[in-house]
Amino acid sequence: MSTEFISREITIGNLRLGGRQPIRIQSMTNTPTLDTNATVEQVIRLAEAGCEMVRITAANMHEAENLKNISRILKEKGINLPLIADIHFMPKAAEIAAGIVEKVRINPGNYSGSHHKAKKYSAADYRKELDEMVLNVEPLLNICTRHNTAIRIGINHGSLSDRILYKYGNTAEGMVASAMEFIQICRKKGFGKLTLSLKASNVQTMILANRLMVREMLKQGMDYPLHLGVTEAGNGTEGRIKSALGIGSLLAEGIGDTIRVSLTEAPEKEIPVAHRLVEFYGRRATKPDVKKRVQYLKSGEIPSHQRTAVAFIDETKNFPEEAVVIFMSYPGLPEEELLLRSPVDFNLAYENKKADGLLIANGPYRNNQHLGELALEILQACGLHYSHTEFIACPSCGRTLFDIEKVLEKVKKRLGNIKGLKIAVMGCLVNGPGEMAGADYGFTGAAPGKINLYKGEKIIFRNLPEAEALAKLEKLIREK
Ligand code: SF4
Repeated sequence: MSTEFISREITIGNLRLGGRQPIRIQSMTNTPTLDTNATVEQVIRLAEAGCEMVRITAANMHEAENLKNISRILKEKGINLPLIADIHFMPKAAEIAAGIVEKVRINPGNYSGSHHKAKKYSAADYRKELDEMVLNVEPLLNICTRHNTAIRIGINHGSLSDRILYKYGNTAEGMVASAMEFIQICRKKGFGKLTLSLKASNVQTMILANRLMVREMLKQGMDYPLHLGVTEAGNGTEGRIKSALGIGSLLAEGIGDTIRVSLTEAPEKEIPVAHRLVEFYGRRATKPDVKKRVQYLKSGEIPSHQRTAVAFIDETKNFPEEAVVIFMSYPGLPEEELLLRSPVDFNLAYENKKADGLLIANGPYRNNQHLGELALEILQACGLHYSHTEFIACPSCGRTLFDIEKVLEKVKKRLGNIKGLKIAVMGCLVNGPGEMAGADYGFTGAAPGKINLYKGEKIIFRNLPEAEALAKLEKLIREK
């Protein structure tokens, strides 16, 4: 797909979003929502960094109520950027927040009626749950209409309803179907101030879900703005590459109205990354001329001094003369830009024409080892070749139950080099076993200072003291 998707323009507080507006940049606080001062200060730091909307978790009614204090103090300080309440599990918290902040983000999976894993759904069961969902959603829509509050329908690959899982499985199609169920209810009630997000930690699933969503909207004459993000992208190089790959690839083809780069780092660090992606690939950007930077070379054409920097998708290939390598050249491009441009360019080039490997040149600054590692990281983020442990790590928020930034670094140091292994490090269980399903092992906050360890979807240890959990995880993995 290459045609730009022009969404409807909506307002969120004083911010115009969608249509021909610039791509809006957002992030989320990771302070406890009941810690009013810390949250206010973090929102101010985000605003100063160039963030245009800030999401704050509202895990329960108290937290939802406290949004009033946060919003008031921010306004008193002259900070008028829209606030978004992040709701999971508790529709009542959404109803309180909808009367306070400019937008609420809900997960349709929490409005869906019963949850019985083994349940089979007859057509009547399915219908019944949808009817229940209408009743559950109606009060929120009434409050949002009264207060002019927007809603983000936040679909997460890890937490689809049982009904959707039964019919579609944990798939991109299921994500679109889940969004459509909610949209149809909103349309029947005449509510149109919607944005949509379809997020996944698997980048290709995220890209596919958004493309399918656009296709479905076009088919049904809909035009809701899209929020893009790769969830649980992790930190550092890995987090930036996965985020760029998902968000940049879609922006480059004209999809996306607002973005959040989720990094397991201080939220302020997300903002320059997001700005760069918009600058490179957003609708006002000079579209990247991938063709100029990318060539398809036969292995035999690659000069011998560059050969150690080639990463092959099938590593057993080892330089057959006829293998095709995507060659991308960025003379003198600074590291932080290289990390964001090269994954997107590779993805666009590979979608255009399949190849066997990747070679990046960035002379005169980086050596072959560094460039080879970058190429391997990109192939892994694309799901084409797994060369080291993949980490699925949430960005943290007010629900986080341990110091995830520090823990993630420690886990990476001890377990970062296991080929083909996927480890999830999650601040809480919101996206729960659904996200775990994609990981071989999970390290998840269970209560303050307590960790649950998973193998696949199965809990192996519950409520371990945080200090013991990493050693137990390592033992579990090494003894498998
Ligand atoms: S998984 Fe992480 S980011 Fe998501 S709600 Fe839990 S602590 Fe927050």
